[in-house]
Amino acid sequence: MFVLESLLDLLFPNQCLFCHSFTDSLLICSSCSKRVEQEIFVPPLCQNCGKPAYYEVKKCIFCFQQKITFEIRSLAPYTGMMKEILVHYKLGRKKKLADFLIRLSVKNYLGYFREVDFVTFIPATRRCLKERGFNPAEMLAKLIAKEVELPLVDTLFYRREPVEQKSLGFKERKENLRDVFSLKPEVHNRLSGSKLLLVDDVLTTGTTLKEACRVLKKEGKVKRIRAFTIARQL
Ligand SMILES: [Zn+2]
Ligand SMILES: [Zn+2]
Repeated sequence: MFVLESLLDLLFPNQCLFCHSFTDSLLICSSCSKRVEQEIFVPPLCQNCGKPAYYEVKKCIFCFQQKITFEIRSLAPYTGMMKEILVHYKLGRKKKLADFLIRLSVKNYLGYFREVDFVTFIPATRRCLKERGFNPAEMLAKLIAKEVELPLVDTLFYRREPVEQKSLGFKERKENLRDVFSLKPEVHNRLSGSKLLLVDDVLTTGTTLKEACRVLKKEGKVKRIRAFTIARQL
């Protein structure tokens, strides 16, 4: 994957992903960056899950229906330019786009990131690691942790390989992810009573985050969880 990124850099050195003008090292020029910023969620949002609402509510219908017992915030909907950035990010132009995404995230959610004890992430499936060569969620979490000067802790692993979620309906997704995560033995004692930030790249139905939180709370005795994803499917 690093080879691919180097090759792309060689072919398109510092060219904006969208307008192809020459730019600084982040692959998105300042005027396209402003357009991306226009996609970012703005209040009123649900105070619990961060979903856009008609007015600020403590918990929205999604929270009640999905029984969301932790906070969620996402930068933007999974559409438009943000979707394109994430697709390129996962395809291998990872370092520069991760830096761009985290710069934007920190600008908007610094307070949210800081009120925790450490940062963790949704692990990658074996299939994902084979395809991409890296865990997109882990790289984002690592950069957030660095920005807010908090420890990054690798907490979860897949007990079994789930079926690819894309092909499944809501109920099947839930079934597919049931008891799929377990806590790494080495972090068992470390998590009790802590507050943590759980990072993933995209929130689709929320099933993955929910299952991860359940395990972190039940097995790890984590006190409070804040989730953060770059994009969110609405
Ligand atoms: Zn541009
Ligand atoms: Zn909500």
